[in-house]
Amino acid sequence: MNNIIVVKFGGSSLANGAQFKKVKEIISEDERRRFIIPSAPGKRNGKDHKVTDLLYMCHQLASHGLNFEEVFKIIKDRYVEICRELSLEIDIESYLNEIKNNIRDGASRDYTASRGEYLNGIILANYLGFKFIDAKEIISFNNDGTFNEIDTERKVREGLKDIDYAVIPGFYGSKENNEIVTFSRGGSDITGSIIANGVKADKYENWTDVSGFLVADPNIVKDPNPMEVVTYKELRELSYMGASVLHEEAIFPVRKYGIPINIRNTNRPGDKGTMIVNDATPVNSKGITGISGKKDFTVISIEKTLMTSEKDFFRKVISVFETNDISIEHMPSSIDSISVVVPASEISSKLKKVIEEIRILCNPDNIETYPDMALIAVVGRGMIRTKGISAKIFTSLGKAEINTRMIIQGSSELNIIIGVENDDFEKAIEAIYKVFY
Ligand code: ASP
Repeated sequence: MNNIIVVKFGGSSLANGAQFKKVKEIISEDERRRFIIPSAPGKRNGKDHKVTDLLYMCHQLASHGLNFEEVFKIIKDRYVEICRELSLEIDIESYLNEIKNNIRDGASRDYTASRGEYLNGIILANYLGFKFIDAKEIISFNNDGTFNEIDTERKVREGLKDIDYAVIPGFYGSKENNEIVTFSRGGSDITGSIIANGVKADKYENWTDVSGFLVADPNIVKDPNPMEVVTYKELRELSYMGASVLHEEAIFPVRKYGIPINIRNTNRPGDKGTMIVNDATPVNSKGITGISGKKDFTVISIEKTLMTSEKDFFRKVISVFETNDISIEHMPSSIDSISVVVPASEISSKLKKVIEEIRILCNPDNIETYPDMALIAVVGRGMIRTKGISAKIFTSLGKAEINTRMIIQGSSELNIIIGVENDDFEKAIEAIYKVFY
C-alpha cells in the first residue's frame, strides 16, 4: 500500500462547469486521489459534439486548405465557458489562439486531437490547485508510433516521485523528437492505467457516466444487474465481444502488478461501480459473471477425411486467411472437419477468393459457408467449479425455441460461446440472462 489512487475522468464527467464541480468534490473526498487524468470535454447532451471530434474536423478542413474558424470557435466557446463557470482567471484564449495558429500552419492530426485533453488538463489543474504535468514529458512513443513501455515506466516513476498532486492529460504522449502521438480513440483510459502502473497505485479509478459494467446489454435485457466484481481475464472475454465502457487496452498496464480498476459514475458517486481485479474469490454464486455477444459472423466449414493425419492441414487453412488479411474469431474442429468463424465484414468481398484458395491449397472433400451467425459469450470464472451451468444455458435456449448452431468452450473454462442465428440473438441473450438472474 502506498496510498495512491490514480483517477481518470471521461469526457462527459468534464463536459461543463457543473461537471467539473462534481469532479472536484470527488477528488477532495479522498486525499489518496493524487494523480488525475482528464479526457477532453465530451457531450453535454445527445445533440452535442465531443471536443475531440471537433478538433479532428478542424485538422481535416485545414489540411484541405479550407476555413476551420467556425468549427474552432465552437471549441473555443466551450473552454471559455468552462473557465467562466468555474470563475478561473486563466488566459485560456491565448492558449487557444496558439493552437489555432499551429493548426493553420500545418500541425499534425495527432497534435491537433491531443489539444482537447491538454487544455482540459490546464483548466482542471488550475481549478484543483494541482500541478500540471504535460503528458508529452512522461508518456513515450517510439519513432514508428508504437508505445514505448520501458521508457514511459521510467519517466513516470521519476517524474512523479516528488510530486504530491498532479493533473496529467490523457490520450497522448510524444516521440523522442517531441512530436505528439495519440493513442486510439478513448485512449485516456490507457493513460490512466499507465500512470497507475508507473506510480504503483493501490487502485485505478475510472470515472465515467455509468455505474460500471452490467451483466448484459441494457438494450436487450431490461434493467440488468450490475457487475460488482470481474477479473481482468473475464473482462477480456466480454470486451472482446463488444462491451464498451473501458478501452480494451486499458487493462494491460495495471494487470502487470495486479492493480484493481474501479469503474465509477461521476453522476452517482455513491454507487460502488465495478471492480476489475486480478483474481476474485469467492466466486459469484450465480456461476456466471456476464453475457455479451456480437452479430454477423460467417462460418466456413471445411470437411476432409483424415485431415488430422495431414500434419500441415491446419497451417494451410490458416495461411489462406492470413494472406487475405482476415482475422479468425474461432476455429472449432471435429475429427474430419474444421469450421472457421470470421467476421462477415472482413470476408464478404473476399469470400469466393478465399474458398477457391482453400480448394487449391487444402484439397478438401467439401466446403460449406453459413452466413448470419451471432456469437454469444457466457463468461464466468466460476464455471470451472460449478455444476450444471451449461445444462441451464442450453435448457433455456431450448425452451425459447432457439436453435444452437455452434458451441465452443475455451480450455480455460472461463466461457461458453454459443453460435445462434442473427435473428435469434436478442432472444437468446434474454433467455440466458433470465435463467441465471
Ligand atoms: N478524447 C479522446 C477521444 O474522444 C480520448 C478519450 O476521451 O479517452 O477519443
